[in-house]
Amino acid sequence: MGWWFKTDLWKRVMLGLVLGLAVGLGLRYGMGAEGAKSAATYFKPFGDAFMNLIRMLVVPLIFTTLVAGVLAMGDPKKLGSLGARTIGIYMVTTLFAVTIGLVVGTIIQPGGGYDLSNVASEDIAATKARLEAGGALVERTVFEQLTGTILAIIPPNPVAAMVQGDVLAIIFFAILFGIGVLMSGEAGKPVADFFESASEAVLKLTLMVMETAPFGVFALMAWVMADQGLQVVISMGWMTLALYIACAIHIAITHGGLLKLIGRLPLIPFFRGVTDAQAVAFSTSSSNATLPMTISVAETNLGIRKTVAGSVLPLGATINMDGTALYQGLIALFAAQALGIDISLGMYVTVALMATLVSIGTAGIPSVSLFLATTTLSVVGATPDQMALILTPLFAFDRLLDMMRTVTNITGDLAVASVVAKAEGDLDEDVYREQDNLTAHIDDREKA
Ligand code: ASP
Repeated sequence: MGWWFKTDLWKRVMLGLVLGLAVGLGLRYGMGAEGAKSAATYFKPFGDAFMNLIRMLVVPLIFTTLVAGVLAMGDPKKLGSLGARTIGIYMVTTLFAVTIGLVVGTIIQPGGGYDLSNVASEDIAATKARLEAGGALVERTVFEQLTGTILAIIPPNPVAAMVQGDVLAIIFFAILFGIGVLMSGEAGKPVADFFESASEAVLKLTLMVMETAPFGVFALMAWVMADQGLQVVISMGWMTLALYIACAIHIAITHGGLLKLIGRLPLIPFFRGVTDAQAVAFSTSSSNATLPMTISVAETNLGIRKTVAGSVLPLGATINMDGTALYQGLIALFAAQALGIDISLGMYVTVALMATLVSIGTAGIPSVSLFLATTTLSVVGATPDQMALILTPLFAFDRLLDMMRTVTNITGDLAVASVVAKAEGDLDEDVYREQDNLTAHIDDREKA
């Protein structure tokens, strides 16, 4: 068993992911419906257990890490520069993401030739009901959307916000609470000590839970693949291709460029360091559920201090969704191409701005993109009936697309956190580069 714990966690998680994928596909294509049923019976419960374990950590981890982070900052004024930098970079990278989505969608034409006449009318009605229940068909101006989001950040009852796992509201309360402790000086010392120690303890707990990630990721992948198969590739091949290519380009160019050019940081340690979190994002399809992994890889693998990891990452899980925004661009083009609507240059620009704004206000949970899409689709002039028509096939096969969007979302959060940490002097570059140092040490030894 020694080799298991000696192997890097990211390698073990990747092993779980690949094996889960193979087993799931084997069950689906080897045993058909029976295989999918067995996966739901035997693998899904383990996947759910893993999801519960990591979800269990979200609220205690955000709260303790953020309070401890504010305390470590020492001066509440620092929050201003940290916040402004973070939100600024989040917006710019998201805008890049939609633009890449629009460019790739114009080249690949995911909706060109897509036959919407096969979509069954009862499925369309079901989609409409789903969108209505999610409040996605209520017409709201951008201003109303923004004020709604901002109001929701202030929790009238912080305990209720924690019970509901409302990330933005918890962030708001934790920051104010941390400032309160800082301002209490000597009197606040016991609380400060408590939060410092609690945040360490919760981080340790997270690292323990991460040890179960190879198994959890395996179970989730086996279940998802047995359940969904590669149907999305058959039914929505061009859309799948467009999304995967656009996300890969965005990660390589926007996130890579940000780290290299703005952060002046090497890329290999970054991508190696974030693999575990990416694999968990891929298998869970939820940035919020992945948060404990995102925060712990940021602290332990990338050397990002609590001050930044505890604030920038939970904020990012909610307001920075590059993959989601990129997908909005693709959906707009898919709809326009499939419905035969001409898109003007002005519409492109409006889609880009709208997609950036809508991706801010919603939580990182599975398939949230599709609920946001109604706002984007209204820009290209789709009626509610057309929206339901377009979104029906997209809902049916969303999981495999959602997985890639979620990976892109959390990679963006981590890239921005690294750059902000560096700018704020909160990046321990020795830890960040540790892998490189290790290789360098080995090289030196070999030379000697
Ligand atoms: N599932 C994505 C996330 O959690 C959101 C989406 O694009 O649907 O980040």
